[in-house]
Amino acid sequence: MEIGSNYQASGKVDSGKFVIFLLIAVALNGLLGILFGVISHYNPLIYINFLVLFGIMFASIFVSSFCLSAAKSRNPMANMVFLLICAIYLLYNSWAATLAANYSGLEYTAGLLFQVSIDDITEFISLRQISIGKFGRDGAVLEGSILAIIYLIEAGIIIIWPTYIGFTSRGYYCENCDTELNEQGFYVPAESLLDLDNQKKSGRFDNLSSIPPVLESELANYTTKRSLAMINHHSCPSCDLEIIDLTLGKIKIDKDNDSEFKEQETIVKGLIARTDLKTAESFDGGSGNSSDA
Ligand SMILES: [Zn+2]
Repeated sequence: MEIGSNYQASGKVDSGKFVIFLLIAVALNGLLGILFGVISHYNPLIYINFLVLFGIMFASIFVSSFCLSAAKSRNPMANMVFLLICAIYLLYNSWAATLAANYSGLEYTAGLLFQVSIDDITEFISLRQISIGKFGRDGAVLEGSILAIIYLIEAGIIIIWPTYIGFTSRGYYCENCDTELNEQGFYVPAESLLDLDNQKKSGRFDNLSSIPPVLESELANYTTKRSLAMINHHSCPSCDLEIIDLTLGKIKIDKDNDSEFKEQETIVKGLIARTDLKTAESFDGGSGNSSDA
């Protein structure tokens, strides 16, 4: 790939690997669905149910993304299908487990896996009540169509969230070396990036290693006047391929004192680049986000 051009996924899929890791991911998501369904059945409180849901979602995102990476697919459409199948199977199994636990006892969960119908679910919802208040107190309950809407929202979260996160967080891939790229994220003061237009055009960033990264403790200086540049540097462990994402923005600090990068302008995304970062051994990446989840 030419320096200064933009990265494009090759679209290649190794179908053998893809199917194997899809089956593994589907099985693990199915187990997560059963776990969620059983907990939902025994837990009568809507708040706790959503907390459990978020926990299950994080686990699902982790499992699906890990398996998708292992499958080494560089085809966005195939990735989307992979993630959707996992999410739908999780949702399906959560309902199978809830109905099994509700009607027949847990030992029937496995037997129900392939025979849940929409009728079963609507009948179940019509009979179900979930409390908004605390245990052992007579309070508001959710039932009927309100409950149905909440289950619809829940289903939307289960399908859309992991699929979106899994799809948008796909890393870059080196076709020559058949491997994903390593990622390193850090912040620098925006004003220290000189000649950005030229660097963007040429793809050559020759002085990045000489700019001291902004440390976590200094982020509060970038809430109003000064801007930050968030740089995500991706490099192949085996060859000289480098890809840069560079975004300008400011820091927002919430009431819990947590800082969050607020993106204002994307300068480059997926730019094939040549930097001095690979050769700068003393470079430690500073603070910043090296997340790839
Ligand atoms: Zn490579």
